[in-house]
Amino acid sequence: RASMQAAAPLPQGQGGPPVHGVSNTVVGVLGGGQLGKMLCQAASQMGIKIVILDPLQDCPASSVCHEHVVGSFNDGDTVREFAKRCGVLTVEIEHVDAVTLEKLEKQGVDCEPKASTIMIIQDKYRQKNHFSKFGIPLPDFMEVDTLHSIEEAGERFGYPLMVKSKRLAYDGRGNAVAQNKEELSSVVASLGGFERGLYVERWAPFIKELSVIVARSRDGSTVCYPVVETIHEDNICHVVEAPADVSDKIKKSATGVAEKAIKSLEGAGVFAVELFLTENDQILLNEVAPRPHNSGHQTIESCYTSQYEQHLRAILGIPLGDPSMKTPAAIMYNILGVDEGEAGFLLAHQLIGRALNIPGASVHWYAKPEMRKQRKMGHITIVGPSKMSVKSRLDKLLQSDTYDPK
Ligand code: ATP
Ligand code: MG
Ligand code: MG
Repeated sequence: RASMQAAAPLPQGQGGPPVHGVSNTVVGVLGGGQLGKMLCQAASQMGIKIVILDPLQDCPASSVCHEHVVGSFNDGDTVREFAKRCGVLTVEIEHVDAVTLEKLEKQGVDCEPKASTIMIIQDKYRQKNHFSKFGIPLPDFMEVDTLHSIEEAGERFGYPLMVKSKRLAYDGRGNAVAQNKEELSSVVASLGGFERGLYVERWAPFIKELSVIVARSRDGSTVCYPVVETIHEDNICHVVEAPADVSDKIKKSATGVAEKAIKSLEGAGVFAVELFLTENDQILLNEVAPRPHNSGHQTIESCYTSQYEQHLRAILGIPLGDPSMKTPAAIMYNILGVDEGEAGFLLAHQLIGRALNIPGASVHWYAKPEMRKQRKMGHITIVGPSKMSVKSRLDKLLQSDTYDPK
């Protein structure tokens, strides 16, 4: 009885019907990809209604949301209409119409995180400027808009030189590396030219990539998930290991940088902070995602409160949950599209078949209507008693000769 009384009260219905269960507030989500889908799965468990806005009729979230509005999250009128059905608006992708969100906020619509945050993050150059002002450690960066300015940047930062589009980047699409001065013009062309809006970063000589998910509630309090290691190939995330195999000192500094970065942004929700760890134990921030993230998929099976449930708790004003791990170790493997058409689906199907025979493995298949090379189609999380055991189970899974199709 005492512990029941100690609990913080749940939010009350504001002039509407009394609150039953967890919350009556309808959550509107811009985007219906895999992150939206897993958000809906967490919402369903708690009886929370999610309405999705996504242009694709059969987007991953469409099969599990309460309602799916087919339309563009980039179109002002569509977003404005959509907002009318929701008690709170959030995003599963940052490439949305943030100008409209800002206008809606002024008219009293509750957006979490805030439009200002989406606006800063959706432009990577603006994001870098923002964090630099707040004293967050970053690789050096510089805007480039002519061949002359990018050559100057090459002289200043040396090679390899990382060239990035400011906007609409994901899964490394929007990044290109120049190995020397001669490659600059073709690299710029491969990114769509200077008109697209480009900037460059000094090459970060990292030994590991780390990620920290930070959740912030409406009252401003934050909790951090354990630091994980992300392993990328060709700029795209392949594997996540939780917890990261780094010293406590590095965990502390990574978490410190992540928390400081998030405190410079406005609004509630979960945020992922992608970090580089350099040889001399320096932490540099790569980028922030203002939403649940690929580096937090494994929290579904490995943490007391998944990043998806946590995001809902944060934006709805429900007390934040425990982010700590309930299994000693977890490893997440992204199932990337290998081939267009049936052959690709068959390969993925075989991999999933093998995963179903691995102890501690959970399969997530996003049910995207089409497979494309390097597209995130699903993922597999393996939890277990130690880092060694989950790694060896993943190795076994990736050896195709263990597949037994009976
Ligand atoms: P995401 O899918 O995470 O949104 P993205 O398209 O926004 O990816 P980035 O996060 O900018 O791309 O970069 C993708 C990967 O490229 C990083 O995880 C890292 O492996 C590599 N990378 C990015 N910036 C640098 C840099 N300055 N130096 C070295 N490697 C880098
Ligand atoms: Mg990104
Ligand atoms: Mg990234």
